[in-house]
Amino acid sequence: MANVRLEGITRQFEEFTAIEDISFEVPDGQFWVLVGPSGCGKSTILRTIAGLDWATEGNLYIEDTLVNDVPARERDVAMVFQNYALYPHMTVADNLSFGLRMRNVDAATIKQRVEVVARSLDIFHLLDRKPKQLSGGQQQRVALGRAIARKPKVFLLDEPLSNLDAQLRDDTRAQLKQLHSSVGITTIYVTHDQVEAMTLADQIVVLKGGRIQQMGAPQDIYAKPANRMVATFLGNPAMNVFQATYSGNGWQVAGQILPCPTAIKTQLQLIEGQTVELGIRPEHIVIQELGNEPQLRLEVNVVEPLGREILIRGSLPQSDIVLNVHVASDWQGRPGDYINIYLESDRLFVFDPTTGNTLYP
Ligand code: ATP
Repeated sequence: MANVRLEGITRQFEEFTAIEDISFEVPDGQFWVLVGPSGCGKSTILRTIAGLDWATEGNLYIEDTLVNDVPARERDVAMVFQNYALYPHMTVADNLSFGLRMRNVDAATIKQRVEVVARSLDIFHLLDRKPKQLSGGQQQRVALGRAIARKPKVFLLDEPLSNLDAQLRDDTRAQLKQLHSSVGITTIYVTHDQVEAMTLADQIVVLKGGRIQQMGAPQDIYAKPANRMVATFLGNPAMNVFQATYSGNGWQVAGQILPCPTAIKTQLQLIEGQTVELGIRPEHIVIQELGNEPQLRLEVNVVEPLGREILIRGSLPQSDIVLNVHVASDWQGRPGDYINIYLESDRLFVFDPTTGNTLYP
């Protein structure tokens, strides 16, 4: 096990900079997730750590040792990709033990490690099968197991669950989390799936355009996103973002006035008269009780029952502002209805429309 430290890692492909000035340190035994949209540079970072690619600038340390020039096979790092490659002529047991046998580990240890890993990943009953006798999900779990069984210093995973169906992805995600807490190998996991990032990570690194946008614990990033990109990337459905202008007594939004709590008015004086972007998560918009002062009026466009709750997609009249709102599963409205909505003001974010940076809170 080991810590992994990146200092100012940049990778240029001729004129194109795929990742720029990437610095972070994953402490020994932690599970970190690199997340971001396609092309943001996640795999390039992982491949650089694995030694399958190299940095054009910066330093990489594993266990506090500079490894810039250390070849991949000498880094004691295991990497699992989206497209697993098992040895087709070997049984599951032989696939799982391959790395250990190559390192001349004794038979008793091999047997014990293979059993622990196979049980954790629910493939113990498949030990005698060959890969072609397994489903895709089972094969991927064998690939994960094979990498974990040899207890590398660092475990690198590049979208390992994205080929699995939804149920299997959820199950394998949970198994992976459990397995990590029992073996404690330093793990760096790449995904574009914010649910995987939120559920698995000790710390998340959000990337866009080859640069780090924000790093932190999942709940902290979710609650205090540094900018609009992070705010809208984490959360499903995404945070609602729309233009508004602050005038001393409230926000002007598409010809309606959204009241602003007195407590934050002094903080907003600086942006009085300016058009900014407001952000609010769907779960922080509520339908207003009848008889209360209306806050905003919304025309319901689409009603999506999700079982536990309903998602309403609606628009503010005479505008192109569309809002997603979560409501209780017994809500009875339908498309075409007008509803009064209330935005929980202490959950409102203000973004700079040019830089996207969070201005408030
Ligand atoms: P995805 O989620 O789609 O796999 P990613 O975030 O992992 O994307 P990378 O594969 O790291 O992204 O690629 C980052 C950027 O670098 C992309 O724009 C990609 O086209 C570019 N890139 C990657 N490898 C090369 C290469 N060998 N030559 C030129 N450009 C490359």
